[in-house]
Amino acid sequence: MVVMSAPTQDVIMGGAKEMLDSYGRRINYLRVSVTDRCNLRCAYCMPAEGIEKREHRDILSLEEVENIVRAAVRLGIEKLRFTGGEPLVRKGLLQLVENLAQIKGLKDIALTTNGILLKKYARDLKNAGLNRVNVSLDSLDREKYRRITRCGRLDDVLEGIELAQEVGLTPIKLNVVLIGGFNDDEIIDFVNLTFKRDLEVRFIELMPLGEAQAWRKSSFISNQTVLDKLPRLIPLPFKGPGTVARLYKLPNAKGKVGLISPISSHFCNYCNRIRLTADGKLKPCLHSNQEVNLKGVHPDELLRLLFEAIKAKPAKHYISTKGASEAQRNMNEIGG
Ligand code: SAM
Ligand code: SF4
Repeated sequence: MVVMSAPTQDVIMGGAKEMLDSYGRRINYLRVSVTDRCNLRCAYCMPAEGIEKREHRDILSLEEVENIVRAAVRLGIEKLRFTGGEPLVRKGLLQLVENLAQIKGLKDIALTTNGILLKKYARDLKNAGLNRVNVSLDSLDREKYRRITRCGRLDDVLEGIELAQEVGLTPIKLNVVLIGGFNDDEIIDFVNLTFKRDLEVRFIELMPLGEAQAWRKSSFISNQTVLDKLPRLIPLPFKGPGTVARLYKLPNAKGKVGLISPISSHFCNYCNRIRLTADGKLKPCLHSNQEVNLKGVHPDELLRLLFEAIKAKPAKHYISTKGASEAQRNMNEIGG
């Protein structure tokens, strides 16, 4: 049993302006996976045959998500990101966005998507109160895109990005998982997108998690590859805690390049995030197996459980020493 000090009790009863974990990190960012289902089957993320469908009753209802977010905001959460699986396949998402956009204190609502359904929903998402989107795109070549996603149509994503930009779901960030032998020959093409467009192209190091755990070593390449190919990239000032990407820019480019390096240079020291899985588990760290169940919990209990989960956030992950993530879920279940 956790014995609570008087200040702890005060926070739980009354909420907090800001919430620090046991290592003094300010936790103000919640990532919410609204479904573990997806309309793609990216080879590093999901098995080719898809996943066993969870019963509806095992997934958080939209009302439960809303209650959890309200409690989290009382504890100092200011930024929220919907993720999945593919968040745009979750029914009722627009209504949820609309409800959460009314919460005082929640300053930023964003969404990470594969972009396939963005053309259909971008305008409604903007009207519902979503601020911005990150779009995952691992190849600019139609055939390669289909190969890595096992079924996706590149043009759907590109058209979705156009519309998202047009309706103001900006700034748009493109997430590119860097995979040795697959898309390292496209680094320059991706970076060249930033010349004419106000986009942030972010290269993310492939993590040995879920499906990718069994991949051969040569697939895992460091973000240093990007810097080696583009010595002209100019480093931009570091924006401080909570910024996971190191930012760069090409001379005269409109957009930026971000390097997210969870493996070669982990950012645990200034991690500001917690995660909620679609089945209602609060994960204080992406790479740990530690989970706190919030599904079916009475709203009065949520503040205490969230508080305890934040205090239990581990100092860092141990991928480099152990060679793999401890998390025993595929990425589509956690949300990245
Ligand atoms: N379906 C949405 C999408 O693809 O953007 C949201 C969920 S997806 C799990 C979130 C992000 O995690 C994507 O950018 C995806 O590329 C990334 N991701 C999935 N598995 C990964 C892995 N093993 N290593 C690094 N990034 C990964
Ligand atoms: Fe789906 Fe996103 Fe995973 Fe690809 S990375 S399979 S789009 S959840």
